Amino acid sequence: MDLIEHARSIQQDTVALRRALHRRPEVGNHLPATREIVLGALEGLGLDIVLHESTSGIVAVLEGSRPGPTILLRGDMDALAMPEDTGLDFASENEGTMHACGHDLHTAMLAGAARVLSERSDELAGRVVFMFQPGEEGHHGARFMLDEGLLAATEPAPTGAFAIHVTSWFASGTISHRPGPEMASADTIRVTIHGRGGHASAPFLAADPVPVAAETVLAIETALTRTLNPFDPAVVTFGSIHGGTTDNVIPASVEMLGTMRAFSAETRTKVQELIRRVATGIAAAHGVEAEVSFDAGYPVTVNDADFASFVDEVATGLLGAEALTPLPAPIMGAEDFSYVLEEVPGIMTFLGACPTDLEPGEAPGNHSNLVTFDEGAMSVGVALHAAVALAHGER
Ligand SMILES: [Zn+2]
Ligand SMILES: [Zn+2]
Repeated sequence: MDLIEHARSIQQDTVALRRALHRRPEVGNHLPATREIVLGALEGLGLDIVLHESTSGIVAVLEGSRPGPTILLRGDMDALAMPEDTGLDFASENEGTMHACGHDLHTAMLAGAARVLSERSDELAGRVVFMFQPGEEGHHGARFMLDEGLLAATEPAPTGAFAIHVTSWFASGTISHRPGPEMASADTIRVTIHGRGGHASAPFLAADPVPVAAETVLAIETALTRTLNPFDPAVVTFGSIHGGTTDNVIPASVEMLGTMRAFSAETRTKVQELIRRVATGIAAAHGVEAEVSFDAGYPVTVNDADFASFVDEVATGLLGAEALTPLPAPIMGAEDFSYVLEEVPGIMTFLGACPTDLEPGEAPGNHSNLVTFDEGAMSVGVALHAAVALAHGER
């Protein structure tokens, strides 16, 4: 039986597992119900299981029949705090919580791959670390698992890392990734302009922070275009500006909140320096003060070029060259598998899962309250996880 047939032979269980997870979505780093469901699916597969304590992370190790290298396969398990309006008969039963990023599919595919590989462990050289992680959606779940010894779970440590992310934007069953930067870093920007409040009719007796905030936004956008190499871009958006309470009072301060995205560590640093310099400089020009800070989000997701071409070969052998649709450009979203890829060469690939009755690009996207995925793509994901692990054993 080839891997595709093997994955299809367990498809009913993969779908059932995905739907069970979809019904009971949980948010953040602590996912007790999800962990129970996943552990149930891994039972009897002969895996060495370590339950992490700082989060609901699960590390499961499958030992092959011959010596060889270690590969890490990642599936994220967390959902989003948002309502579900899909009308699916297995829709969320936890109000205000939805698996809208497809992590339920990721978890089910990884559990399916664990089963396939366990049934073929005589073909496996080396070992596989199955990383079931919580908290991908902004909670740094992967960072917590690394800190708790994820990469020390096996000897030798993983020399390859692989993750699959489904997307309803791409045609079902297609595989898309690119060597180098694939997803952006994402940091939160906080700027407070400290002026001096007063009567709105007499700004000369106050220090008005409102025009300073306006000028700061425009000056930052202009400075970006004059500072960055357009082939190594960044995006800065101020999504929130708050100051004042009524029409005839000059407020004492204005709070600004923004996000910044970049595709290299150098540009990320450069943009932070630029924001700090421009905000404090504009404030100084107006005789007020700007306080600038950043909440560090996920780093840039950088795919290893060698590992990317290795996966290209494996995917072509498994699915045919027509299934590969390389990403022409990086994606501005962010992903915490980036933490793993900072330490282990590997890639994250996108698996198209657009519902077959909808058009790719027109279907509701990931994080939409209406997003649905083609479950048929899951057998491709299961087989690809397994194929990459088996091929890595022979590298
Ligand atoms: Zn997401
Ligand atoms: Zn996601």
